[in-house]
Amino acid sequence: MNETDGLCVGSCERCPALVESRSRIVDGVGPDDADLLFLGEAPGQKEDEGGEPFVGRSGDVLDEALRDAGLARSDVRITNCVRCRPPDNRDPHVEELENCRGYLEAEIATVDPDLVVTLGKVPGEHLLDRSVAVTKEAGEVHDARVGERSQRVLISVHPAATLYDASQRDTFADAIAHAAELSGLADADGGQSRLGDY
Ligand code: URA
Repeated sequence: MNETDGLCVGSCERCPALVESRSRIVDGVGPDDADLLFLGEAPGQKEDEGGEPFVGRSGDVLDEALRDAGLARSDVRITNCVRCRPPDNRDPHVEELENCRGYLEAEIATVDPDLVVTLGKVPGEHLLDRSVAVTKEAGEVHDARVGERSQRVLISVHPAATLYDASQRDTFADAIAHAAELSGLADADGGQSRLGDY
């Protein structure tokens, strides 16, 4: 049986390989009316253990970028294209993305965010339905069709990219700062401290 109340998936066995590799379904977290929704690829080991998206090293990078941009993690919604950990942290297969698509569309329709920030290539291509050069296109805003709605989407590199390639740090920080600015959510100091000229 597959169940969702719009935000949480109670049970699902659509993807045999993921049912095998997961220890739980990892639903999105954050306010159910958030203006800003961050979309990752799929849970990793820490997320599978903790039951929450972006709580491992990538989560630390995301939290820091949010703070630098004047945002609190608790103000934004964070979710993934696929809710179960793929084996060996491989990318989700197209069929798995399709199997989980309805849950994502229901979550986005329920939360009704002003802006979705795609974290990395997989979520960017999943929503925009085309190939995306994430580093080149980071910070760009496009409209995507998500179920019945037209959704504003901001492209970002994945936070983990900054761990492997220091040159991606500014690209990531700038995209998150742009998202904060567009959402109007940043506090009064948002973004200013990292510019270092105040
Ligand atoms: N990477 C993702 O794409 N999602 C997570 O939840 C954690 C790491």
